[in-house]
Amino acid sequence: MQETTQTYDFDFAVAGGGPAGTSAAISLALRGHSVVLFERETFPRFHIGESLLSTANDHFAALGVAEKIAAASFPEKWGARLFTHDGMSGRGVDFTASGEVNRPQTYQVCREEFDEILLNRAREVGVDVREGHRVAELEFTADAATLDFVASDGASGRVRVRALVDATGRQGLIAKRYDLRTDEPRLANIAIFAHYKGVPRLEGDRPDDIRLIARADSGWFWLIPISKELMSVGVVLPKALYRQLKQGTPEEMLARAYADTPIVAELMRSAERAWPVRVESDFSYSAKAYAGDRWILAGDAGSFLDPVFSTGVSIAMESGIEAAIELDRARVKNDFSSAAFAGFSKRQRQRFETYRRFVISFYSPEFRDLFFDPEPPKTIFRAVVTVLAGNWRPKLRTRLLNRLFFVFVAMQRYLKFSKLRFRRDAAAGYPTGDTA
Ligand SMILES: Cc1cc2nc3c(=O)[nH]c(=O)nc-3n(C[C@H](O)[C@H](O)[C@H](O)COP(=O)(O)OP(=O)(O)OC[C@H]3O[C@@H](n4cnc5c(N)ncnc54)[C@H](O)[C@@H]3O)c2cc1C
Repeated sequence: MQETTQTYDFDFAVAGGGPAGTSAAISLALRGHSVVLFERETFPRFHIGESLLSTANDHFAALGVAEKIAAASFPEKWGARLFTHDGMSGRGVDFTASGEVNRPQTYQVCREEFDEILLNRAREVGVDVREGHRVAELEFTADAATLDFVASDGASGRVRVRALVDATGRQGLIAKRYDLRTDEPRLANIAIFAHYKGVPRLEGDRPDDIRLIARADSGWFWLIPISKELMSVGVVLPKALYRQLKQGTPEEMLARAYADTPIVAELMRSAERAWPVRVESDFSYSAKAYAGDRWILAGDAGSFLDPVFSTGVSIAMESGIEAAIELDRARVKNDFSSAAFAGFSKRQRQRFETYRRFVISFYSPEFRDLFFDPEPPKTIFRAVVTVLAGNWRPKLRTRLLNRLFFVFVAMQRYLKFSKLRFRRDAAAGYPTGDTA
């Protein structure tokens, strides 16, 4: 993958202007490279994915947007409040409990506004941002990546660059083209969601934390305040349960889901829907490879996990920044081969596996017994919270305590460390079989 000619329109191209794409583009530009970014939509545009982790603060600092984000008046998130379907517990997951994140307090964001802040920052640092431009075709040769784009007014064109960051999200331009996606059958879930006015906030000093409410079955709800008025509310259900609910419109299904969980029914009593109800399915997958000759995947274009721990956006930003560091290094060495990107791919895989373990385990009654316990063992939970706040590579002691947590989860079936709060019958809809 050595370069033989020097005729490039830009050093690098980025496909996709979500958090992964803008983070990659900004980081590349800050390192002195010329960058073009293609985004098929025109911003502001709707996007789901509103609750961030503590580590997002490190990414804001690296991208030079920390002040803009702080000034945007997004609701402050200090962690989560966990409830069981009958309203029991209300226990907090407090990001300040972790001594291993730089700044615990993070945000719940309205993605229209948040993504636009990042896209504008990309423009500010010199990225050639082209909204309403869809990347339609790609070609990778020994010395270049060539992209064909189509603009919303029908115009088309081509650019030749040293390498491409594919940050096209679930569209997964390259993953689909090269058949790289690996599905997660145990996480074949469906989400139904909308935004509402008139949903009461939490009481106490952290009214804007995310609420995670377990259903009596294996589903769960999120409630995320994304502005002073609006609350993002959704339900995630394994496919089998979704099929049982599937009569009528998405609006009717969502209303039925609220109605059968008393605490949610009460919270939604005076809610007024402000957005259409949306449905997303099959959103968990990974990739067989995260980089190849002259391309790199960032964010959801590579992998994505069920949103239960709100990892998506923070990981997307992190992987975008990592992609930029990798391409910067590749340029110095003038080596854009997949072999040169092996370390990048390994890191993406390790992070995915770290969170996958939590997410897979969440869809078991044993995990939920422990996780929703009002009085969990403090030291172990501090370690768990560190990872859930975004630090997936904590100190050795914290990693070992996390392992111990999963030992407790595995043994809960036999030793009952925590009260059995969750149904175990087949109709609860927990996935069965191999957890590997
Ligand atoms: C139900 C649900 C709930 C979620 N909740 C959360 C949450 O609470 N917290 C959280 O952190 N994450 C959450 N997520 C995940 C979050 O939405 C994603 O992880 C995040 O948006 C990934 O960012 P990204 O930049 O990789 O992709 P995206 O944000 O999807 O950006 C990709 C961009 O690429 C553009 N694009 C696509 N194809 C092309 C093309 N051919 N040419 C040019 N542009 C293109 C798209 O228009 C889009 O703007 C949730 C996801 C789901 C499904």
